[in-house]
Amino acid sequence: MAKSAHPDYEDVMRFIRGMDAQIPNVRVLPLGHSVKGREIPCVIFGDAGAGNGDKQRALIVAGQHGNEESGRAIALALMRFLLSDASSARDLLRLQEVAVVPCGNPDGAQADSYHNADDVNSAHDYHFDRAPQAPESAALEKFALSFEPDCFVDIHGLSGGSMNDRIWVTPVLGFSANRGFVFRMAEEASEAAEAAGYPVCEVQPAPIIDPARSATGLLGEKLAFEMNTLAFGLEAIERYYREQEWCEVGLLRLLTLLEYGGNDRFGLGYTGYPNSLVSGFRLCGLLAHGQTAELRRQSRGELTRFLRENFAMVSRGSDGVERLAKVGVFSKTVNGKNPERFSIMVRVKKPATLETVIWDGKPLASGGEHGFRVLDRIHDLQITADICAPFGGPLRSLEIRYRSPMIDIGGRK
Ligand SMILES: [Zn+2]
Repeated sequence: MAKSAHPDYEDVMRFIRGMDAQIPNVRVLPLGHSVKGREIPCVIFGDAGAGNGDKQRALIVAGQHGNEESGRAIALALMRFLLSDASSARDLLRLQEVAVVPCGNPDGAQADSYHNADDVNSAHDYHFDRAPQAPESAALEKFALSFEPDCFVDIHGLSGGSMNDRIWVTPVLGFSANRGFVFRMAEEASEAAEAAGYPVCEVQPAPIIDPARSATGLLGEKLAFEMNTLAFGLEAIERYYREQEWCEVGLLRLLTLLEYGGNDRFGLGYTGYPNSLVSGFRLCGLLAHGQTAELRRQSRGELTRFLRENFAMVSRGSDGVERLAKVGVFSKTVNGKNPERFSIMVRVKKPATLETVIWDGKPLASGGEHGFRVLDRIHDLQITADICAPFGGPLRSLEIRYRSPMIDIGGRK
């Protein structure tokens, strides 16, 4: 088959070999080998060493379907950007570590085929109960699970003649607030591309994950299931746009998503992707515990795995009946390891004056690993209780006593 001028595996390897070896804080990691023995490279931008505990992590994978060369082109465009002197690139890497796998299926890239050399669809080879079949997906999964990304993007290309670009999103646990977050992020990425002249893009949900029914899935689904990773897929129309356009629109969408890792766009009180809100709602939710991104990542994984196997709830009644905000924390079963720390976030409408915060009948002090924090926002007080105690078990409660004309009126006692 005639090879196109678009980047194949050799082009990707030439780019990686040509990167200046002296560039600080860039590492090339071989993840494994394809069926035919070609190395699968990963390029990690950002120093994984000292002082890195507060960095978010993003993983960008392209070319799992070998004949979708737009993904490889976009991954190369991203790497060029991250290597550049652009201040926006420096800002991004100050707050995030970005791992790029520009060619997830080397044999498919060389043969211009969708599948790998054993005719396996390696992009759909991720299972909730066992290891992948193909060496390409096994290598990618092993790295992804150890890297523990906060944000994951799987880049594909639409070569079937469709007129629509697509961004698909993977909602995580059915009761998670992230469902709203991922759609808003994807819509914003789509709008950024529209503002630059690429108007047609569909934002589509991937199916809700149900491991009992689906034997195989995508890597994003597995990561969302294991660690509440925010997962996206990007697809460019290969037969309609040309390479320069794939790169421009793809990079724009990628950078729009990555921007969330360096901001607090959902007002949760920390910088980073919003998946530290593991479940609940933005008025009351279960948050990962920890003052750094690294600690929150660990806590998020523990809480996600616990919630997957146990009946648990964090629920808030209506404020005012007992002249306080009361949040119940309850778990009926304990399957697996019980997380030993968690945080609960509660918002109360202003004007309000906070009096005391009580966890399990005892007053909490302000600050510290086991204490509470208050964020004075425009319309509400956000009170976060950081609890060092087992998450699961019998009903306990967080009580927040506050004065407010909203609950003090009407002569009720
Ligand atoms: Zn694909």
